[in-house]
Amino acid sequence: MIKAVRGTRDLLPPETALWNFVEAAVRDVFRAYNFQEIRTPIFESTELFARGVGDETDIVTKEMYTWDDKARAASEKGQSLTLRPENTAGVVRAYIENHLWDRGLNKLYYIGPQFRRERPAKGRYRQFYQIGAEVIGPASAGSESPARDAEVLEMLATLLDRLGITDWNLELNSVGTPADRGQFNEALRAALDPVKDKMCGDCQRRAVTNPLRVFDCKVPADQPIIDTLPRISQFLGGESRKHFDAVQEILRSVEVEFHVNDRLVRGLDYYTRTAFEFTHGALGAQNAILGGGRYDGLSEMLGGPAAPGIGFAIGEDRLVMSLKETAEGVLRKPDAYVAPMAGMNGEAAKLAHELRRHDLVIELGDDAFKLKKSFEAATRAGAKYILIVGENEVTADVFTLKNLATGEQVSVPRAELVRRIQG
Ligand code: AMP
Repeated sequence: MIKAVRGTRDLLPPETALWNFVEAAVRDVFRAYNFQEIRTPIFESTELFARGVGDETDIVTKEMYTWDDKARAASEKGQSLTLRPENTAGVVRAYIENHLWDRGLNKLYYIGPQFRRERPAKGRYRQFYQIGAEVIGPASAGSESPARDAEVLEMLATLLDRLGITDWNLELNSVGTPADRGQFNEALRAALDPVKDKMCGDCQRRAVTNPLRVFDCKVPADQPIIDTLPRISQFLGGESRKHFDAVQEILRSVEVEFHVNDRLVRGLDYYTRTAFEFTHGALGAQNAILGGGRYDGLSEMLGGPAAPGIGFAIGEDRLVMSLKETAEGVLRKPDAYVAPMAGMNGEAAKLAHELRRHDLVIELGDDAFKLKKSFEAATRAGAKYILIVGENEVTADVFTLKNLATGEQVSVPRAELVRRIQG
């Protein structure tokens, strides 16, 4: 038997209704904040992620699905391609390529699959789905303002509330400007030098190449050492501090609760200043539902103009998991099962078509089924009513409608069927 590849899975009904419910709420909430959808390709040139996500990140060093794409014609060149492990680099590439700065401030969102070769676990997949948004544009359009950071965070709190997820926790930090980080990295290197030999292999390498990434380490034995390291909060310059304070002040005024966590540095290299994560208690070890932050230098790193920005990515798989218990009401069962008697498939299809035009969910049977089998199929489908379509009914234009829960059975003229079923 051929099986789905390790770390991938099928999303099946009825659970897919939850995914649709989440995505509909996302589109609705994001629209109110004037975000518009962008769709970028699922694969990009490898170099985009190496430069955009960072050479030393876990994603780029171990997790990307990369292959050499052979040339198919003399006019083409072969090139290294990668399935996107995240979507921010793709959005920023699209911003540069399509000159989106002409539009001033861009508020964009996306929904789609991402790919990372991680160790599969509950809530961690190799193909997973992210819902993300990016606010990006020239500084003159206000893209650097702390108002943008706070707006994005407030939008996320609104979305989670709308989905009925209440026990979330917002962890907030500032990772400073590249200049702040330069000083911090030096201090980190100095602090790591005498202790790095006691740390895991990854940390020994990070201590030399990109010490900030030591904070991504999950090895339990390394944690007491990491706890003694200097924190970025001690190295924030005046501008960074002012920006961070302003974000917090707006959050307080819109009553979004948060907790400053000065260990939070996020697993991607492009972040500057604001960095954040929302966690949810019920999720267990993989408790981060979403993460994001500011990436003021990313466009320039990718060869574009200066374009400060802030964004986030929600793990949709985890969002759906944290929703499951509360989401019974989301599933819509058929309002009626239309059961044709022998030779009545055509008439039944016509009636079903009429009813469906009125926003009713109709399951249509088959005239090869005996009445008993139609009742069984209607019950299995969870239909509220069964509607029997026989020759006599069609001639009289009056149909038998039976409520499957109560057993109540009535004769209803065609013109009144919609109202009866809706009621
Ligand atoms: P990141 O792009 O690493 O900041 O991740 C943003 C969010 O995507 C995380 O908070 C998770 O909810 C989700 N996520 C990241 N990696 C995975 C994965 N392998 N499987 C499922 N969800 C993931």
